Amino acid sequence: MATGACGISCDACRLQLLGMCSSCGSGRSEEAKNKTAAQLRLFGAACPVLVCAIEKRIAYCMRDCESFPCDKFRTGPYPFSEGFLSMQERRRREGSNRSPSGDLVKVSPRYWEDLARKDPKIICSDADVTLHPQSGILMPFLNEWFLVDAAGKSLYRECRGSWIRIEDQLIVLLSILYLLGANPRGLSNRPVSVKQLKCSHFFRGPHELNLNPLEMRFGEDLEGFKRAAEGLGGTPLPMADAAYMLKVFPKVPLYVLLWEQDEEFEARVSVLFDQSVEAHFAADAIWGLVNLVSRLMLTSVPLGSGTSH
Ligand code: SF4
Ligand code: SF4
Repeated sequence: MATGACGISCDACRLQLLGMCSSCGSGRSEEAKNKTAAQLRLFGAACPVLVCAIEKRIAYCMRDCESFPCDKFRTGPYPFSEGFLSMQERRRREGSNRSPSGDLVKVSPRYWEDLARKDPKIICSDADVTLHPQSGILMPFLNEWFLVDAAGKSLYRECRGSWIRIEDQLIVLLSILYLLGANPRGLSNRPVSVKQLKCSHFFRGPHELNLNPLEMRFGEDLEGFKRAAEGLGGTPLPMADAAYMLKVFPKVPLYVLLWEQDEEFEARVSVLFDQSVEAHFAADAIWGLVNLVSRLMLTSVPLGSGTSH
C-alpha cells in the first residue's frame, strides 16, 4: 500500500497508474527521501509536509503527529481543504467513547446519586483516595489529580491551580465505577493476562480487546510508544521491547507491552492487569479501561475543557 506522509493514497491516484507521479511513501521510508530529492531536482523545492515528516520521523501526519493539522496544512492550498481539517480537529476532540454494546458512553445520573449516598470514609479507605479539605474526593488518575464532586455530579482535573471540568464521559464513568466498586483488597503486584481473568469469556468476539490501533501507531516507533506512556506517568518495566505500568486508578494499574515489528514478526501490543483487578472492576469496565488507555496513548487531546470549579 503506497500512502504519502500527508495521507494521500497513491494507490488510488491515476497519476501513479500512468507513471506520472511516484509515491511519496511514509515519512520513515526510503521512497520519501527519493521523492524529496526528485522534487528538489525538478522544482527547486520539496514538499514542506514531506520534509517535515522525514525530519520528525513521522510515518503519517494524520495518524501519528500530535501537531496535525499544523500550519503546513493550513497555510498551503494542498492537499486538504479547511473543511476537512476542521472536521479532523472537531472529531478528535469528541473522542470515541463507545460501550461494549457499541452505543456512545453516557453517564446515568443514578451512578452519581449512588456515589453521593456512599459513606465518604468507606470510599476513601476502599479506593485509596482522600477527602478534599473543603468538599469532594481527591483521586489520583495516571499522573493527574481529579476532584470528584458527587453532589454536583461533576468530575474535575487539576490544571495549573484550577479545577477544570472533565466532559469525557468514559473517564467520568470509569472514575465513578472505581469509587463505587473498589473494595478493601490491595494490589497483588502479580500481572495477569486477560485469559487468566475469571471473566475472560467476556473478552471474545465483539468484546475482544482492540489493541490493533496501538500496534499500527507504535509498531515501528518504539520512541513514540515510550513518549506516550511516559506522558501518562508510566513506569518503565524490563519486559518486551518496551513496557510500562500505568497507574490509572490507585488500585487499578494497567501494564502495556510492545514488541516492535521486525523482518520476521508483525508488531504486537499486549496488556496485563493486576491479579486483583476483578475485585474492583466488572468485565465491561475493564474493557472500557483498556480502550481509554489506548485512546490516551494515541492522542494528546486534553481531558478537560470548559468550566472551572
Ligand atoms: S502533499 Fe507532500 S506528502 Fe502529500 S502527496 Fe503531495 S508531495 Fe507527497
Ligand atoms: S508538524 Fe505537520 S507536516 Fe510535520 S509531521 Fe506533523 S503534521 Fe506533518
